[in-house]
Amino acid sequence: LLTVLVIGASISLNSQAQTPSSSIDKKVSDLISRMTLEEKVGQMTQLTIEPFLKMANGTQPIYPHQIDEEKLSVAIKKYKIGSILNVGGNAQTKENWRNRIATIQRHALQERLKIPIIYGVDAIRGNNYTTDAVLFPHQIAQAASFNPSLAKKGAEITAYETRASFLPWNFSPVLDLGRQPMWPRIYETYGEDPYLVAEMGKAVVAGYQGNGAITDKYHVAACLKHFMGYSMPLSGHDRTPSWIPEREMREYFLPQFATAVKSGAKSVMVNSGEINGVPVHANKHILTDILKGELQFKGFVVSDWQDIEYLYQRHKVAKDNKEAVMMGVNAGIDMSMVPMDFTFCEALVELVKEGKVPMSRVNDAVSRILKVKYELGLFENPTGNTEDYPLFNSAEHNKANYDIAAECITLLKNNNAVLPLSVGKKILVTGPSANSMRALNGGWSRNWQGTNSDTSEITKNTILEGIRSVFGVDNVDYTEGVNFENAINVNEAVSKAANADVIVLCIGENSYTETPGNINDLNISSQQIELAKALAAKGKPIVLVLTEGRPRIISQIEPVASAVLHTYLLGNEGGNVVADAIAGKINPSGKLPYTYPRASNSLINYYHKFTETLEGQDPAGYNPQWEFGYGLSYTTFKYSNLKLSSNALNASGSITASVDVTNSGKIAGKESVLLFVSDLVASITPEAKRLRGFEKIFLAPGETRTVHFKITPDKLSFININLKRVTEPGEFKVQIGDQTGTFQYR
Ligand code: BGC
Repeated sequence: LLTVLVIGASISLNSQAQTPSSSIDKKVSDLISRMTLEEKVGQMTQLTIEPFLKMANGTQPIYPHQIDEEKLSVAIKKYKIGSILNVGGNAQTKENWRNRIATIQRHALQERLKIPIIYGVDAIRGNNYTTDAVLFPHQIAQAASFNPSLAKKGAEITAYETRASFLPWNFSPVLDLGRQPMWPRIYETYGEDPYLVAEMGKAVVAGYQGNGAITDKYHVAACLKHFMGYSMPLSGHDRTPSWIPEREMREYFLPQFATAVKSGAKSVMVNSGEINGVPVHANKHILTDILKGELQFKGFVVSDWQDIEYLYQRHKVAKDNKEAVMMGVNAGIDMSMVPMDFTFCEALVELVKEGKVPMSRVNDAVSRILKVKYELGLFENPTGNTEDYPLFNSAEHNKANYDIAAECITLLKNNNAVLPLSVGKKILVTGPSANSMRALNGGWSRNWQGTNSDTSEITKNTILEGIRSVFGVDNVDYTEGVNFENAINVNEAVSKAANADVIVLCIGENSYTETPGNINDLNISSQQIELAKALAAKGKPIVLVLTEGRPRIISQIEPVASAVLHTYLLGNEGGNVVADAIAGKINPSGKLPYTYPRASNSLINYYHKFTETLEGQDPAGYNPQWEFGYGLSYTTFKYSNLKLSSNALNASGSITASVDVTNSGKIAGKESVLLFVSDLVASITPEAKRLRGFEKIFLAPGETRTVHFKITPDKLSFININLKRVTEPGEFKVQIGDQTGTFQYR
């Protein structure tokens, strides 16, 4: 296979034909040889076919999710377009999706060359735009499980339910590094650590695409996004400029994409933002030299939403649309996500005729796209298999969702073992996320902003409903207290607290997606703080449940909570999982996939520099609320006996670090064992530590397991000042739990 891919690459990179060896490559080059320029450009075009309406207040578009038949016919007949995408309208039934795809393919197959359309969808945590499809926890929550095999299982189910709707191409996973907590897309990431992101990403690509290189009727093509450096806007606002030196880019933002590209991901979506003053959609260095050159990416590159147009409309690096198209395509974009009109096609045809975009570039782009269409089996079966998806929204799939969510929930505080609560306790449940599916699910839930989750998920339990079903309606009182905008009935909450043994206070964020989720203050909203403080005055234990897409600062109210459970955005089983965790049926085992900040002006990642205190001062100011990797359990785990197989490592060798982990408490539990390594002296300031391995284990009470990690020189490497990955000789420190050891690299 490797040979095939390498030969395929040389065809596409140097337009000069070599003999393609695989049958797909042959089919692709044969088809390309019969295509007109207009047909080729059409393949590079992706459009929406929904009528695009403005909302009354003009702020957000509405997508009614019906086919604009006239546009569809022009798109296919006149412009020969090759791809269509969803646009975030309210979810449709699986049957509606099937009809939609069948209609579209019927139009496409009437054309001369009968090339099927590839339809792309954001099925980013379950097939979230199809009614009743399973809604899994968002990526950030899944990262907290430190369990890639669960994430893979979720991705397999997502792929299955997506194909069941005849949708073959998924704009997922997000491999952006979630280390700017203000950014409204943190919840779509796997958190702040590149290794964790890479491991989760690799597992999910395998889940979507299957382990073979060719996808089938139960798998979809993955799309790694958003290449690269999207997640670090300086302002914290979505799609605003970042400044990332290339050294940092290669150290933190690139490796996870490299891993996923290696595992065979079929497509990549481009970062909408600009880095160091250059919009990535016009950055040939990033899209061609690095992605297609260094990383040897063989799939196709799709722009993000309207972003080629934005090169002139927003970024002002092009004077008009035509120049923008030239820049984008020459930079390495293979397909343009242009939802509004056909200006991309017209401009690109002219540019090729004028010699401003080489034909070889167009042939390269088209061959990449057609190859994926063949691999997906779209030429043989452009729609899907009508009967073959009995597991769609089955008990089995919903159970898998529960199992995944159960490993995400993260216990951050549990003073005096207030949790778990025994059944029989009088509980007051309050707070704006207590009775809201919308808050549990977050964005990308049945519509783009997740705004209709409350009405679309009526058969699912909110946190309140989950707690009532576990603890009994008679034992559970409820009032909202405050909503996400206002303090509404704080007094009622306070007076109800008088009758309760314990208060479960559910706070956080309401759903949002992308730029509408921009904030200017990371603190949790003031009315939620007000509610917490008012309740605290009653002196009852408070269990704080944090349901949020990013770590909102709670340092003012954390001291009044006896326990804190972080749910992130747990999805459709979230209500049951929170209730079962509170009752002790689930023993929490999640660990934070990001640093939880204590103050909004101190947003420092765990792998920051300057760890040593200087004359009593901490020069880095690193003092988070909770560290990356922090998470408690209802049992306790004791680490002992750290052993290194040698105290020296050389370039061709490896050493094994092993540690004994004992469940020293009274109940069974799962523990994610994390290996951190620190380079003690380096040619650039070394980081405090870096995650280099993890393993999740299950331990019965009293049980001990020895966990082994293999440390190879690449795990000690970093990108040096000359942009080279190096491992420098010297002393390294290993840390697993509270155990440490050192060794020399020679
Ligand atoms: C987002 C992408 C998404 C695309 C298509 C864009 O606004 O940035 O992540 O895949 O829309 O819905």
